[in-house]
Amino acid sequence: MLSNTLLEFTAAAVWEMAARFSVSLQGIWPETLKLNLNNTMNYELDHQDIRDGVKQLCTDFPGEYWRKCDREQTYPQEFVQALTDSGYLGALIPEEYGGSGLSLSAGAAILETIHHEGCNAAACHAQMYTMGTVLRHGSDAQKEKYLPGIASGNLRLQAFGVTEPTSGTDTTALRTTAVRRGNDFIINGQKIWTSRAEYSDLMLLLCRTMPRDQVQKRTDGLSVLLVDMGQCPKGSLTIRPIRTMMNHATTEVFFDDMPVPQESLIGEEGKGFRYILSGMNAERILIASECIGDAKWFIEKASAYASERSIFGRPIGQNQGVQFPIAKAYAQMRSAELMLREAIRLYEAGENPGEEANMAKMLAADASWAAGEACLQTHGGFGFAEEYDIERKYREARLYQVAPISTNLILSYLAEHVLGMPRSY
Ligand SMILES: Cc1cc2nc3c(=O)[nH]c(=O)nc-3n(C[C@H](O)[C@H](O)[C@H](O)COP(=O)(O)OP(=O)(O)OC[C@H]3O[C@@H](n4cnc5c(N)ncnc54)[C@H](O)[C@@H]3O)c2cc1C
Repeated sequence: MLSNTLLEFTAAAVWEMAARFSVSLQGIWPETLKLNLNNTMNYELDHQDIRDGVKQLCTDFPGEYWRKCDREQTYPQEFVQALTDSGYLGALIPEEYGGSGLSLSAGAAILETIHHEGCNAAACHAQMYTMGTVLRHGSDAQKEKYLPGIASGNLRLQAFGVTEPTSGTDTTALRTTAVRRGNDFIINGQKIWTSRAEYSDLMLLLCRTMPRDQVQKRTDGLSVLLVDMGQCPKGSLTIRPIRTMMNHATTEVFFDDMPVPQESLIGEEGKGFRYILSGMNAERILIASECIGDAKWFIEKASAYASERSIFGRPIGQNQGVQFPIAKAYAQMRSAELMLREAIRLYEAGENPGEEANMAKMLAADASWAAGEACLQTHGGFGFAEEYDIERKYREARLYQVAPISTNLILSYLAEHVLGMPRSY
C-alpha cells in the first residue's frame, strides 16, 4: 500500500515529468482527476466560482455558530439572511422574477458546499425545490406576485405541508381537506413534520379537494394551495414546534376552518399530486447534493484526524482497521456523486431522471451515513464531544435515511418502476 507521502510524491513526479516533456496527461488520467496536492479530494468539480463564493460565505458561520443554534434549537436566521443577500438562495428563480436564473447543477453545488463546509442548509433548502412547483404550475399572476419577493428575501417559501400523522408515506391517504365556500377554500386537518413553518411566510399545502372514494385514481382529487400564512385568521392556523434529535425547526400544523382565497390554487384543482411529483426529481437531487457535502466533511475530518492522532507511537491512520472504513466511505461517496451527476445531466437535458435521482439520493444518504460512522469511530471518545461538531453532523446526517423519502420507498420505486416487479404496497 502506498503511504500518503509516497502517493503525493508519485503524483507530483508524474506531473513534473509531464510538464518537463510537454506530455499531456489527458488520456492517462481522466480530465476530472487533476491533482491538487493540498486537497484530500483532488478532482475537478463544476461551478467552481460558485463553490468558492459559498465557501467564503460559510467562513462567517463556523462550528461555534451551529453548535449554539443546535444547543438552543434556534433558527439560523443570520445564515439564511446571508444566503439570501448573496443571491444563492434565489439561484434557481428566473432572472425575470429577480433571481439568478441558474441551473439545477448550480443549486446542487451551492447546497453541497454548504454541507461540505460544516454548515446546514436544512433551514432553507426547501425554498429551492418548492419554488419549482410555483414556477412550473403557477399562473403568471401568482409568479409575479410571489417570486420576486422570494428572490429578494422579503417573502419566505420554506414550508411544505405534505406529510400527515395518519397517512405518513402513503401520501394519497392524506385527510386534510379543502372545500370551496364563496371565494375561499376552507381548510381542515393536520400536517406533521412541516419544517420551517414558523420561519416562513408561505406554505405549499397539499390537501384533498375531492374525497378519495369519489375519484377514479387515488392520486386524483388532491390540490396544491399556496397559503399566505400571515393572512390566515387568528385561531384558524396553529403551529407547534416538535423538538427533534437535531435542530430542524420542524412543526405540526393544525387547520381549523382556515379560509384561503381561491386564487391560491396552483394549477388545476385535483391535479396537485402530479404537481408535487413533478418537483421530486429536483428535491432528490438537491438533498443528494447535501449528503455528498456531508460525506466530504466527515471524510476530510476523519482522514486528517487519523493522520494526526498518534497512539501506540504511530498515527492511528496507519492501521488499516482505521483507514479502510474512511477509504470505503470515500469510494461510496464518489460513486454516489457520479450517479448524482448523471441525474443532473438528464434533468438539465429536459429528461425525466426519476430512476437516477432516486438512486442518487439513496446512495448519497448511505455514503454520508457511512462517512459519519467512520468519522465518529476514528475520533474515538472525542467524536462524542460537542466541540468537534461530529456528533452534531452525525445526528443531522441520519435524517436523510428517512426524509424527505425513506430508503425503503426508493427501493420499492426501483423494484416496481425500473425492474418491473409487482407493487409492494
Ligand atoms: C425532521 C423531519 C423533517 C421533515 N420535513 C418535512 C416537511 O417539511 N414536509 C413534509 O411534508 N414532510 C416532512 N417530513 C416527513 C418525512 O417526509 C416523513 O417522515 C417520511 O416521508 C416518512 O414518513 P413517516 O414518518 O410517516 O413514516 P411512515 O410512513 O410511518 O413509515 C415508517 C417506516 O416504515 C417504512 N415503510 C412504510 N411503508 C413501507 C412500505 N410499503 N414498504 C417498506 N417500508 C415501508 C418507511 O420506510 C419508514 O422507515 C419530515 C420528517 C422529519 C423527521
